[in-house]
Amino acid sequence: MEKRVLRDIQPQRVMYFFEEISKIPRGSGNEKKISDYIYGWACENGLEAYQDKALNVIIKKPAAPGYEDSEPVMLQAHMDMVCEKNSDSFHDFSKDSVQLKIEGDMISSAVGTTLGADNGIGVAYCMAVLEKSDLKHPALEILLTTEEESTFKGALSVSPELFQAKKLINLDQAVENQILAGSCGGAGVKVLLPLEYEQVCKEKEYKAFQLSVSGLPGGHSGEDIDKGHGSAISLLIRLLYEIKSRHNVQLSHVSAGTSRLAISREAEAEILIYPEQQQEIQDTVEKMMGILKMSIRVSLVIYRLDSRKLTD
Ligand SMILES: [Zn+2]
Repeated sequence: MEKRVLRDIQPQRVMYFFEEISKIPRGSGNEKKISDYIYGWACENGLEAYQDKALNVIIKKPAAPGYEDSEPVMLQAHMDMVCEKNSDSFHDFSKDSVQLKIEGDMISSAVGTTLGADNGIGVAYCMAVLEKSDLKHPALEILLTTEEESTFKGALSVSPELFQAKKLINLDQAVENQILAGSCGGAGVKVLLPLEYEQVCKEKEYKAFQLSVSGLPGGHSGEDIDKGHGSAISLLIRLLYEIKSRHNVQLSHVSAGTSRLAISREAEAEILIYPEQQQEIQDTVEKMMGILKMSIRVSLVIYRLDSRKLTD
């Protein structure tokens, strides 16, 4: 028999649905399967359900006996999730299930990925409420949207005529015992910098080094930004700035972060230096680490010069 990781955790049916949802890959823009699963489940359970072109699912449940005259209430959650993983993870978000594990009193991913509780747990709550027959509630209108973590395409495509409710409870709230009655929205900025490449690849003179920052806890760019987790991108750029202002180095490659909604956990750069500078640069890095006083790992390791095309 299949072993359910969250079997003993309360509320049991919420955790059951969360575990079911976690089996279905559901990055933003890849919601067909999760949308079909929820819509199919609602139809099987005899609920009035709609699936629109943007793959939003709308499900209605009549008021419990005695609550027919109460105002209807809308519950809202989104079915897509942020797909972030550690660089050493082989997880493929387009087809793999998120593997769950329990660590102390936390549920987390067992394979170095984001968990998807944002907002899988909101969807799971909606399904548990829809399923339970003895709850006392007014008529419920459930709205589960798509592409919340990217373009808001789902929310922007919703047909308002499907709803009677004037009150909405947003289940995409991260703080326990609080109800969110709205949403602040978000904005993205795309910056394109013209890069100028210069031919410096003189193998005999330069040595290539990889400078990497890792070991940071990451987190949600909105909810955890005040917790001092540190951003691998900022730390790497500060390190590079210090190194560049003190030493004659060339930068050939930078890569960092994987999602604009996640605080970066890892970042790396490839620099070209004269071999005799190695110790000085190592000293600069260590000095900077002393200033930053963070329990992160920074490594400066030799990189095979012929393993990558360094300049265009
Ligand atoms: Zn969310």
